[in-house]
Amino acid sequence: MNKITIAIDGHSSTGKSTLAKQLAKALHYIYIDTGAMYRAVTYYALENGFISENHFDKEALINHLDDIHISFTYNPDLDFAEVYLNGKNIEKFIRQMKVSNFVSEVATLPEVREKLVAQQQEIGMEKGVVMDGRDIGSVVFPDAELKIFMTASPEVRAQRRYDEMLSKGQKVNFDKVLENVMKRDRIDSGRSASPLRKVDDAVEIDNSKLTREEQFDKVLKLAKERISKSNQY
Ligand code: C5P
Repeated sequence: MNKITIAIDGHSSTGKSTLAKQLAKALHYIYIDTGAMYRAVTYYALENGFISENHFDKEALINHLDDIHISFTYNPDLDFAEVYLNGKNIEKFIRQMKVSNFVSEVATLPEVREKLVAQQQEIGMEKGVVMDGRDIGSVVFPDAELKIFMTASPEVRAQRRYDEMLSKGQKVNFDKVLENVMKRDRIDSGRSASPLRKVDDAVEIDNSKLTREEQFDKVLKLAKERISKSNQY
């Protein structure tokens, strides 16, 4: 049975990773959260003092890119692969507001994108992968057999992120979360290096009013159709 590549792109907090995890599990594919990789680079920049409240030393980060090694290791207790930076598990640090506030700036740098895209392409070389991000269908795997583009209103997305952070015991303010969601949309869609956009062959899913189950059923059906099509050749 041939395996395919599934690219899931879309705006922040549209539930891309939830859907990608569900699909990977059902199909026995590998799941890669590319947002976690951009977050890992941002965490590195913060830890090393390249980013402070009012200054981002882009040159310093670019000069240290070779010192950044990102990997994923499956955690059976959580049933997903956690992200590691230079051998340290940083999963619990990368979703903090501090990282969210700067990640889109970091992701505008072509040098950062080039490094992470190369690693993503290597991981997905043998297919059988579900990858979620902003440029998977457009840049990382332009030949992916199934491309999904997810969206939902900013308010619905901010509410989801807010609930997720609260459930993890983080102290948050809804307006700040909404502001962050809208700011990241603006930067992600407006940047010159691989801006977020829906490619022509992507299937758009607005999940403002879809349940997780409805959404999953819809995309799983599409995936199965594409898998059987790829087995006809
Ligand atoms: O998916 P997540 O919201 O965790 O991604 C964090 C940020 O990383 C995004 O807002 C975007 O700026 C950047 N990103 C990107 N390209 C990807 C994945 C994430 O630019 N493929």
